[in-house]
Amino acid sequence: MPLTPLFDFDGTLVDSDAALIAPFLALGLDAHAVPPLGLPLGQACAQAGITVESYLDHYDPAAAAPFSGITDVLGQLASWGLASNKDRTSGRSELARLGWVPMAAWFSDDFGGAEKQLAPVLAAMGLPAAEAIYIGDTSHDRDCATRVGARFALAGWNPRARAGALRGDHILHHPTDLLELLRSQP
Ligand SMILES: [Mg+2]
Repeated sequence: MPLTPLFDFDGTLVDSDAALIAPFLALGLDAHAVPPLGLPLGQACAQAGITVESYLDHYDPAAAAPFSGITDVLGQLASWGLASNKDRTSGRSELARLGWVPMAAWFSDDFGGAEKQLAPVLAAMGLPAAEAIYIGDTSHDRDCATRVGARFALAGWNPRARAGALRGDHILHHPTDLLELLRSQP
């Protein structure tokens, strides 16, 4: 059965840890008090005791570069989707900056600020969960895929993701590994 990939954004398509942490540091948080990456932005800001507005004032949507090989692989996909916990305005402006055009792109605002879910994204794409594979860098991402019965693969080109791998994870070491995986599905 052919698989269609859905991606997380930060830490999966773009190497954004530093860009995501920078606003917290600029707003005076100690490095150890910065919330874990991958939370919905509203939750992360609440945890840090700052407003989303002040976070975004200090966030540079042009600071993060794609992981090596990502742009080329995205260009070879017939269709792909995106489900991210990031703010919608900055997420869309990053997609435009990078020239990436997913079939569906859902951001934190689209999930009402709650943890992202794949079900509405799959519905928007007309895609059964069994024909989707979600690629992400955190345990939140793995849980998202598991919850709807979609396959999951770890963005192993991000060393932080690789360090958090669980037994049984399908680890993609390079973005081109995804193309091979998709080709292996008749
Ligand atoms: Mg991520």
